Amino acid sequence: MMIEIEGRGPHSAGLAAVTADGLRHQNRLGSASHLAQRIPLDQFHGRAAIGHVRYATAGSLEDAQPLVGEIAGRRIAIAVNGDTVTIHGKPVNEYRKTLQTVYRARSDTETLLHLIAQTPGDDLVERIQNAFCSVEGAWSMIALIDTNQLVAIRDPWAFRPLLLACGKEGFAIASEDCAFSPSWWSRVREIRPGELLCIGADLVPQSRQYRPVAERLYRCSFEDVYLKSPGSRGVFLFRTACGNVLAEEMLAAGGIPAGVSAVVAMLDSGRDAANAFAHRLGLPVMSGINRTRLGRDVRTFLGHSENDRLRLAAQKHLPNPEVLQGRDVLLVDDSIVRGDTLGVVIKMMKAAGCHAIHVAIASPRVTGACYYGIATPTTEQLIAAQATLEETCQRIGAASLRHLSIPGFQSCYAHLSIVGFRERLRPGRDVCDACMTGDYPPFVPPAHTTKRVP
Ligand code: SF4
Ligand code: MG
Repeated sequence: MMIEIEGRGPHSAGLAAVTADGLRHQNRLGSASHLAQRIPLDQFHGRAAIGHVRYATAGSLEDAQPLVGEIAGRRIAIAVNGDTVTIHGKPVNEYRKTLQTVYRARSDTETLLHLIAQTPGDDLVERIQNAFCSVEGAWSMIALIDTNQLVAIRDPWAFRPLLLACGKEGFAIASEDCAFSPSWWSRVREIRPGELLCIGADLVPQSRQYRPVAERLYRCSFEDVYLKSPGSRGVFLFRTACGNVLAEEMLAAGGIPAGVSAVVAMLDSGRDAANAFAHRLGLPVMSGINRTRLGRDVRTFLGHSENDRLRLAAQKHLPNPEVLQGRDVLLVDDSIVRGDTLGVVIKMMKAAGCHAIHVAIASPRVTGACYYGIATPTTEQLIAAQATLEETCQRIGAASLRHLSIPGFQSCYAHLSIVGFRERLRPGRDVCDACMTGDYPPFVPPAHTTKRVP
């Protein structure tokens, strides 16, 4: 299961299991595949286990998860997806300083482990529940207690996904349903906003609504734009809708740029939108960019540094001169965050003989930082917060650049759902698009600014 979703977190991977010798865990730098090759998996046999794949939004690689500790005589491992904004009303970093404790790492996951330890409760499950009543922000957390209890808990705003699957073998919980092979797992539903689910040795799930569902949800739309695997539920329909509306908007704004004879898709998250876009415009989709063997599982957005991302972009993409030579094309991508990957690919396409590259992006401009678990922590890193549309177009070397409009994007939310909770999300009431619209949740870090460039 971890390997199915390793694209979400290539920086480190870890596994914890309750074995006959107690709670055993092992974390490594690198992907889940790397971990599976390097640890003795037969020593992790047991009734319950959790794993984590991480990309770093904060802290260093010592923050690899699951994090393991001992609280009130019980060993516990936790793994968190998301970022916390406040604890007991204080910004996380300030709250951290108030605890008289020793920190090993810098991520807020360790702060959460200490918060659980400091929070009263009859047992560890109750401590977890009480602890998360004092937190604001985004968390989809799983915990494994050496009593063979598996706990899943999601914030009341539903920022980050968390799904439960049942099968003959028992239960499985994961961030994306592409982790659940249909031959093993059936009956998939999301952990509800504000739900705590505990599965003990008796395999009877106990669900409680530990916090009321927030009046307004903030399900992260950028998950569907970019982060989720094309094989996860709803992603194809959403990205296809974005491609269709992008084409409609281009037609309404004057039509296809003169000379364009093909659409080229950025791999892989731009592919579904590119197919729909090309179909609506009556253009062929041509494989002007292929993926190298090396780049099979690489996501350049998740590279650690600018150099890292530029190197990965160059290693991952292979422009095809037979398609591109002398041609004008429309290049479709899911989003532009920093602009570095697109810049590298356009340069490579030109070197392969492409005449003009017009760019169409199947989401609005990313102008604001994310404080809820996606790696865009400052506006300095966002090209759309630093440059106008025209400047961005010049910087990436495109002949023209257009984005899906905000209303056009929001019209595609009809294809989003929280499986088993709300089958159709209400635009403006259930979805977070703050980094594109500036419509932030009521809790943001003190350093938040709303700078926007036209
Ligand atoms: Fe997702 Fe953007 Fe909201 Fe962050 S700010 S949760 S990336 S939509
Ligand atoms: Mg991309």
